[in-house]
Amino acid sequence: MRRDARPAEVDQVIAAIEASGARPARLAREGRILIGILGGEAAAETARWEALPGVEALLPLTTPFPLASREWQPQPTVVRLPGGLDIGDGGLIVMAGPCAIEDEAQVLATAHAVRAAGATVFRAGVWKPRTSPYAFQGVGEPGLALLARVRAETGLRVITEALDVEGLARVAEAVDIVQIGSRSMQNYALLRAAGRIGRPVLLKRGASATVTELLLSAEYILAAGNPDVILCERGIRGFDHSTRNTLDLSAIPVVKHLSHLPIIADPSHGTGHRHLVPAMARAAVAAGADGLMVEVHPDPDRALSDGEQSLDPAAFATLMREVKAVATALGRPVIAPDRVAVGA
Ligand code: PEP
Ligand code: MN
Repeated sequence: MRRDARPAEVDQVIAAIEASGARPARLAREGRILIGILGGEAAAETARWEALPGVEALLPLTTPFPLASREWQPQPTVVRLPGGLDIGDGGLIVMAGPCAIEDEAQVLATAHAVRAAGATVFRAGVWKPRTSPYAFQGVGEPGLALLARVRAETGLRVITEALDVEGLARVAEAVDIVQIGSRSMQNYALLRAAGRIGRPVLLKRGASATVTELLLSAEYILAAGNPDVILCERGIRGFDHSTRNTLDLSAIPVVKHLSHLPIIADPSHGTGHRHLVPAMARAAVAAGADGLMVEVHPDPDRALSDGEQSLDPAAFATLMREVKAVATALGRPVIAPDRVAVGA
């Protein structure tokens, strides 16, 4: 829009974009108003837009993911969870818990242990995306009640994965953050639905997805109306089997450069071996991750899924001390559970 464009002219352009079947996206920068024409066929009709009062010029979009891009939103997105827990504000938040919920004793023991060590979000799979149909698929619905108990007893926020569109609403009403797993990163129906749930979404990078593909998947959620997207680097498939995946640490500064969205790292799936998790957790924090997601189990050797890469509570407490030292060296606070009100 021209510098002297009047509010009514801006409104008229927005209405015209909507009428054309495209989606308007409004951005104010350096005293200028830019209005994006997202989707639809009419964006290419230069003369049609430039004829509207107040319009200075029609420019081509220089990014394939405008809503996710830093070009369009220079300031970082801060995802706010209930009870005063912010993700992406410069502090480090740690999500920890078992790969999967197994039973009440396992869940509560893990939750109390990770809270004592300083985690603020409890992770645990209720419905699990397993490579084999014969592997443990998760406890299902009763797991959600256990997450609610964790929340009430410990004040931890809770996150679990929604596997499909049918289960999404149920998961969304039960948790603080909905996880979209690596295998679902390009399930576009699920992404669109996640754009309409009114809950923060943690979007994990697909094992063979480029950063551009990850950001385009985030764009689906943003474009459907949900601004609260947290990205997660969890390792990509490489040729070297000394690790389960290759944790792509460079993706963290790459994403920070390209996008305003917060990004956390998952060194558990990123390495596949518990002895590698602490080193990569420290490295991810040093690389600028806004948080970590770490698998913890009271008895990892007996875990029903991902025991190989799960830490026991003592090893997790050590990891937390080390990660805190790295964060402190960088002048970043680690968000502690006592900043988060119980039952909020
Ligand atoms: C998980 O977090 O337990 C999980 C299944 O992760 P991913 O989707 O990254 O494999
Ligand atoms: Mn797992």
